[in-house]
Amino acid sequence: MTNSLDELAAQIKACSKCGQRKSLSCFYKNSKSKDGRSSWCKDCANARSREYRRDNPAKTALWNKNSYPSKRKYYQEHREQRLQKIRDYEANLKYDVLSYYCKQSLRCARCGITDIDVLCIDHINGGGSKHRRSIGGLGGTLYHWLKKNNYPEGYQVLCFNCNFKKKLEDNREQRRA
Ligand SMILES: [Zn+2]
Ligand SMILES: [Zn+2]
Repeated sequence: MTNSLDELAAQIKACSKCGQRKSLSCFYKNSKSKDGRSSWCKDCANARSREYRRDNPAKTALWNKNSYPSKRKYYQEHREQRLQKIRDYEANLKYDVLSYYCKQSLRCARCGITDIDVLCIDHINGGGSKHRRSIGGLGGTLYHWLKKNNYPEGYQVLCFNCNFKKKLEDNREQRRA
C-alpha cells in the first residue's frame, strides 16, 4: 500500500507544546478540534496533568473522591431503581391511556380479554402504523402522544389477536373493494 505525501502529511501533526512532529495517534482524541486530535501530544498532555495533580493535590483528591468513583457507584446502585421507575412510568402510562379508551373496565373491545399485557391501542379507522411512523416510534410513544394530545377520538383498546385479525379483515375488504 502506498500513501500519498498528502495522506502522510495529514497523519503527522506538530505538537503545539513541544513542537515535535508526531503521528496523529500520539495525540489524544478531541472532538472539538478540527482534525479531531488535541493540539498537545500525549506526552505533553500527560506531563501537564501530572503537574496539575502535583500542584493541586487537594483539588485532585476532592475531584477523585466526589466526582468519579462515588458517582459511578451511585449510578450503578441506582440503575435498577431508575429502570424500575421508567418501567413503572411506562406501565402507568399504558394503564392510564388504555383505561381512558376502555371507559369502563380494562378489556379488549372485541373479545373482552382483560390481561393488560396483551392489550394495545387500535386506530378504529386504521392507519395505525402510518401514524406511528409519523410520531416516530412504537407503542410507548403512541401512549405518550395520546396523553399529550388529550386523548383524541378514534381509538379503542384491542388485544393483539383482535388487532391482528382486524387488520387481516381490513386488508381482505380492501382487496374486495
Ligand atoms: Zn508535545
Ligand atoms: Zn381481543
